Amino acid sequence: MTKSGWKPALPPFRKYKKDMYTKHGLTSSFVYQLGEGDMIRRQSREVPPSEILTSDTQAKIKYLKKCLLKYRRLTGMGRGIAAVQVGIPERFAVIYLPEENRKLLVIINPQIINRAGESLKFPEGCMSEGPLFAPVVRPAWTEFSYLDEQGREQMWTEKDDTLPHRIANRVFQHEIDHMDGIIFLDRAILSELTLDSDPTFYEKASFEEVLPQKTSTKK
Ligand SMILES: [Zn+2]
Repeated sequence: MTKSGWKPALPPFRKYKKDMYTKHGLTSSFVYQLGEGDMIRRQSREVPPSEILTSDTQAKIKYLKKCLLKYRRLTGMGRGIAAVQVGIPERFAVIYLPEENRKLLVIINPQIINRAGESLKFPEGCMSEGPLFAPVVRPAWTEFSYLDEQGREQMWTEKDDTLPHRIANRVFQHEIDHMDGIIFLDRAILSELTLDSDPTFYEKASFEEVLPQKTSTKK
């Protein structure tokens, strides 16, 4: 019998995946994962404005910032985190905005006031949903009011189509969803679901304009 020249066709990016799954395992020690009790599905409660400056609330905000930075240190990814993801079912989130002066923006009790008519498709992932990516169609921007970490009223009104603002508008919507127990997989195009196995995935991703859905007219 001649020696077989057959070799198994091994999947790509093996070293990257080993490394990435290890890092993901590390982050799950402080970020709740989907299915761990009902934490990720809980409806978060409003933070009473009079409690924002209390030492407890300030300690929770500080902890959430620390968790986001730790996640970023471990994985190099992560643009936002909602308090419920670290076991605090209260309506606040921390967003990483590298282009702004203060890189970490805290939003408390956000209230959406207005949404773009135009929708965009862009892949999302989540710290609580394992190494999965899938495209989600969302309004290009939302305008919302919120309280900052000093309890002052603020507004987010950036609507331009620069990449940093498109990403920020995307992240805000993802995090506000978390406050209502909604995850990106609930809104994702699941036929395009992919595992984090390609290190260039986000380099290749771009915002795609989605035409408004016409209501079907029978011929
Ligand atoms: Zn998320």
